[in-house]
Amino acid sequence: VDMIADKMKALVNNSSAIRAMFEEGKKLAKEYGAENVYDFSLGNPNVPAPPEVQAAMCEIVKEEDPVVLHGYMSNSGYEDVRQAVAESLNERFDTSFEKENIIMTVGAAGGLNVILKTLLNPQDEVVVIAPYFGEYNAYVSNYDGVVVVVSPDTRDFKPNLKELEEKLTKRTKAVIVNSPNNPTGVVYSEATIQKLADILRRKQQEFGTDIYLISDEPYRELVYDGVEVPYLTKYYENTIVGYSFSKSLSLPGERIGYLVIPKEAADAEEIQAAANVATRILGYVNAPSFMQKVVARCLEAKADVPYYNRNREALYHALTEMGFHCIKPEGAFYLFVKSPIEDEKKFCEAAKKYHILIVPGSSFSCPGYVRIAYCVSYETILNSLDSFRKLAEEFHT
Ligand code: PLP
Repeated sequence: VDMIADKMKALVNNSSAIRAMFEEGKKLAKEYGAENVYDFSLGNPNVPAPPEVQAAMCEIVKEEDPVVLHGYMSNSGYEDVRQAVAESLNERFDTSFEKENIIMTVGAAGGLNVILKTLLNPQDEVVVIAPYFGEYNAYVSNYDGVVVVVSPDTRDFKPNLKELEEKLTKRTKAVIVNSPNNPTGVVYSEATIQKLADILRRKQQEFGTDIYLISDEPYRELVYDGVEVPYLTKYYENTIVGYSFSKSLSLPGERIGYLVIPKEAADAEEIQAAANVATRILGYVNAPSFMQKVVARCLEAKADVPYYNRNREALYHALTEMGFHCIKPEGAFYLFVKSPIEDEKKFCEAAKKYHILIVPGSSFSCPGYVRIAYCVSYETILNSLDSFRKLAEEFHT
């Protein structure tokens, strides 16, 4: 007997190699001791949430009316929270959002699902740029959309805009961009965004359609060396932003983020209203009430970027000295390293011998590379270097 849905079977079969690695890491840690396992598999921040978060939690429990705090609210979120988010964005990015433009979501994943449910008809196309977060495939397929992949430009992992332009069609409903990028750490410059916006405008005109640019940006706050991350609604009218506090405030398990649907976007009010319904019927009902209140009080809290930066510098320099090849990431907390052999899955298997857990690039539609998540303790980085050296020797890098 085989009762699960056919569509689900396929999803289970290629269910995230990343998660499988995470489980394997826990097993190895039990066997050899956590300090002897170098688990670089998951984007699960090791830095604790900033102190403002705990303080806000305590205050809220003391101060807020429990009936309000634990109750249902508008499916799009508490109005005071949405107002606070809008004001914070306006202050930081010189935008003019109002609470109506903000929908609180169950993390970035929840937000993406809400907006894709809101926008997609079956067979609508969603363009993604490799390498990309593999779960996009599942999110788009949830609403019977079709993922169209722009192939990676492995010279510098900037988006191949020429190919992107060629892949836009009358059926393109959305383009998803993710900067700072998982898995490469690339940040799209203002010039890149302007070119992308020009292409999208040109194609909208040619087809007489609207193409939404969905900016998936959970890593916005995690950038190094003073790099600027342009705010995309300022460059292209049909932009929808998906934000998450998972990485910036180290709260991935709490499931909290928001969507921005600016009034300039085509059919903005209809999309806001539909997203409100999508939130309810996808089973979330609303974003977690307590966490909405918490993040509203922590909008100015800072991620511990210097911590990740120290990891970035140490690992980047050590690995490149050993002969591994990778670009230096400008944001997020990942290194995307060229596999010394073509079959990077074999390379990941070999790394396990030295208790190093890393993820094959195939999970991001970019075989031949591996992702190393350096959101681990600095000690883990230092302790792992001997193992990386042995791995380098085995593969004569
Ligand atoms: N988008 C990207 C690019 C990610 O890397 C992740 C998580 O790693 C997500 C979305 C999902 O984030 P969340 O935990 O906020 O749902």
